[in-house]
Amino acid sequence: MKGTERAEQELKALEASALPAIDGASDPEALEQIRIRILGRKGELTEILRGVGALPPEIRREVGQQANALKARIEAALEARQQALRAALLDELAVREAIDITLPGRPIQRGSLHPITATLYEIVEIFQRLGFSVAEGPEVELDYYNFEALNIPKDHPARDMQDTFYITDDVVLRTHTSPVQIRVMEAQPPPVKIVAPGRVYRRDADPTHSPMFHQVEGLLVDYGVSFADLKATLQAFVDEFFGAGTHLRFRPSYFPFTEPSAEVDIGCVMCTGAGCRVCKGSGYLEILGAGMVDPEVFRVVGYDPEITGFAFGMGVERIAMLRYGIDDIRLFFENDLRFLQQFPAL
Ligand SMILES: [Zn+2]
Repeated sequence: MKGTERAEQELKALEASALPAIDGASDPEALEQIRIRILGRKGELTEILRGVGALPPEIRREVGQQANALKARIEAALEARQQALRAALLDELAVREAIDITLPGRPIQRGSLHPITATLYEIVEIFQRLGFSVAEGPEVELDYYNFEALNIPKDHPARDMQDTFYITDDVVLRTHTSPVQIRVMEAQPPPVKIVAPGRVYRRDADPTHSPMFHQVEGLLVDYGVSFADLKATLQAFVDEFFGAGTHLRFRPSYFPFTEPSAEVDIGCVMCTGAGCRVCKGSGYLEILGAGMVDPEVFRVVGYDPEITGFAFGMGVERIAMLRYGIDDIRLFFENDLRFLQQFPAL
C-alpha cells in the first residue's frame, strides 16, 4: 500500500500547485502554458497517467481512478478560467469601444445647387409648366447658326452689338442661345414650343458682365400667334418667378431676328417702383429681350410664310442678381463658400 500513498501524495501536490495557477492565469496565453505544463504530451499529469500501467496490479486501479478524477477537475478549472477571461475581455471591450449616445452628432456637410443652376432650373421649370419643352445646342457654334440664319449677315452692324470669341472665321463660341431656334426649326415642322437654356460667351468682363454667362431662350411658333400671346406668356412667367402681380413693361427695341422687338422690364423688385439705387431711380428693371420672329428667319428654315411666332431671351445671372440683390456678377464664379452658403439649399 506504500505505492498508493506515494502516488496519492504526487497527485495532491500537483493539484495544490495546478489549481491556484489556473485561477491566477491573467490571460489566455498564460492559461494555455499551464494547460501544456500539466496536460500536454509531456505534461506532469500525463506522465503520471502514463506511469499507472507500470504500477503493481493491486494499486493500479486505485491510482488510475484518482489520476483521472484529478484530470477532470483540472480540465473543469481550465474551462472555467477560460470563460472568465473571455467575459472579462468582452467587458473591457464594451467599455473601451462604447458609443456615448449622449454626445451631440457631427454635422453632415451638405452641398446644394449653385445659385445660377438653381435659378436656371427654376426658370426652365416655369416654362415647362406652360407647355414648353427643353432644347439644347452646341456651345461651339457655326457662324451660320449664331449670326447668318438669324438675319445677321457678315457686314451687318448688329454684329458690333456682341463681342464675339472667334475660333475660326466660320466657328464661334455662341454669343446667345438663339442659334438653338434655327437648329430646332430645321429639324422639325411647326408648331414649336421650346426653351433653350445654356452657356453663352462674349468678350466682356466688368461687375455686371462675365465672359461666360447663361441664357434661357424661348421660341413659340404656330399659326395665329400674336404679340398678346408673347405678353401673356411673359406675364405668367414673372408672376411665377418674381411674385403675383409683378408689373411688366415693354419698350420698343431692335433685334435682327425679331420684328417688332421689345426690351421687357419689370417693376423694380427692390423699391416696387419708387426709384432706388438698383433701378437707378427709374422704378424699372430690364429683364429680357423679346419680339415676334422676323419672317426672314422663317424663310431661312423653309417654314410657310404665313407662320407666326414669338421669341425671347433672358440672362440667368442678371435675373439672379435682381432677385437676390447682388451687384457684382463675379461673385457667382469665385465659388467662395461664404457667398454660396447664403443661398437656400434647393
Ligand atoms: Zn428700384
